[in-house]
Amino acid sequence: MWRRLWPVGLLVFVALFWVPPPDATAAAPPRVRLVTTGGTISNLPGGGRLTADELVALVPDLSDVAEVETEEFANIPSSALTLDQWLRLARRLNQAFAEDGQLAGIVVTSGTDTLEELAYFLHLTVRTDRPVVVVGAMRRPGTLGYDGAVNLRNAFQVAGAPASRGRGTLVVFNGDINSARDVTKTDANNLYTFESRRYGILGSAAGGRVIYYRRPEHRHSANTEFDLTRVRRLPRVDILMSYQGASGDLVRAATDLGADGLVIAGAGAGGVSASQRDAMAYALERGVAVVMATRTGRGRIAPRSPGSTDQEPADDGDTRPSEYRGISGEDLAPVKARVLLMLALSTTSDRDELQRMFTEY
Ligand code: GLU
Repeated sequence: MWRRLWPVGLLVFVALFWVPPPDATAAAPPRVRLVTTGGTISNLPGGGRLTADELVALVPDLSDVAEVETEEFANIPSSALTLDQWLRLARRLNQAFAEDGQLAGIVVTSGTDTLEELAYFLHLTVRTDRPVVVVGAMRRPGTLGYDGAVNLRNAFQVAGAPASRGRGTLVVFNGDINSARDVTKTDANNLYTFESRRYGILGSAAGGRVIYYRRPEHRHSANTEFDLTRVRRLPRVDILMSYQGASGDLVRAATDLGADGLVIAGAGAGGVSASQRDAMAYALERGVAVVMATRTGRGRIAPRSPGSTDQEPADDGDTRPSEYRGISGEDLAPVKARVLLMLALSTTSDRDELQRMFTEY
């Protein structure tokens, strides 16, 4: 009888031990490169810093999300990165995309303090429709509430998602996907610090699913005119703030010290003290590009038509022709206006061209 039952035995054996062959139709996870620059995300409390590979090892089951490659660019706080390093990093990302057509996206770690500046710089200089995702953490590895691992996992998911294409450089924290142009650090300590203020998030990576609600409207990445292969060093652009009774001395000093451009973080819709107003004329007469932004954190400095002395959109008390008022920084935060002005001045010093760029980017 056992002889007659052997087919049944074989079936039971196969059912118990059969390992299905890999499904050739199941898509392999997208290849995503991690390029680290440092910051709190890798800054160990007892001293020392995590390498790129150690950072990746903190994220459970990351291989389900992406096929990860790592590259350490730097391992320092964000404010310690030099502008030359920015140039090298952006060139490196351009090169990585150019060399590897199968690379889905790149995740860049950064310290959070100046992260929004680096992200906007990459948004304007990495010429591809594939995503660059900038990420970091507010808590150090190994401390209670370390947010680095989840932010990193979300960042890899966003960088690998086809829906992220064509949206420029993205900043991913707390499951929120922000545009590099809009996002800003709003709190010195809190985990929930990166916000796009009134514009809101572009999408969400919460719950392991990437979903988008809108696209950035301004020019960026694949559609940028800024080509770093032609830039050896970035021009010097300083930011000066307006406040009650502010002296124009610092505007004059920056001019005399060789600033190529100035961003004035004006009060309200571009208000400056009388002394600063005179100093701005001093700077403009010496060929310094002056961009007016607002220190309020929200709102827009609208360009005025040439020769116009009107007081729109807000009465800041200056009735002189627009030529004396510098370039309108539109809705860019002063630190972002500086990034754009550095790039713009590396291609032109023509006032109308500079204003065009502030309207388009
Ligand atoms: N929050 C700091 C930064 O933005 C990080 C400090 C550090 O990495 O030592 O870079």
